Amino acid sequence: MATLFTRIIQGEIPAEIVYQDDHVVAFRDINPQAPVHVLLVPRQEIPGVAQVPEDGDHRHLLNAARIVAEQLGLKDGYRLVINQGESAGQTVDHLHMHLLGGRDFTWPPG
Ligand code: AMP
Repeated sequence: MATLFTRIIQGEIPAEIVYQDDHVVAFRDINPQAPVHVLLVPRQEIPGVAQVPEDGDHRHLLNAARIVAEQLGLKDGYRLVINQGESAGQTVDHLHMHLLGGRDFTWPPG
């Protein structure tokens, strides 16, 4: 059974896609936590960071994040977040990175 994010990537579920390449698709989060809130999702269905293979192509996610941040004009900075597992708040079991920007962020996060 395809994950929610695979169904978005395949166009079965609508989303506002802001970037895509051979490895990553980026679309706006349906419940934005900042003026810019984009999810960067590998086309490959990996449940989370815990399942990323040691020799996996993880650089594609960071490359996409940089490109999207530049495209969306996040000159003052942005935050990248990956939630792994229940206690971190992961709700979709398809690896994804949040790109948040357009406001100031506090540290430590909640
Ligand atoms: P996480 O809690 O880290 O697993 O993040 C999952 C994210 O997916 C949440 O921020 C949700 O708002 C977002 N989300 C859930 N369903 C959709 C959808 N159909 N389109 C866009 N974003 C979604």
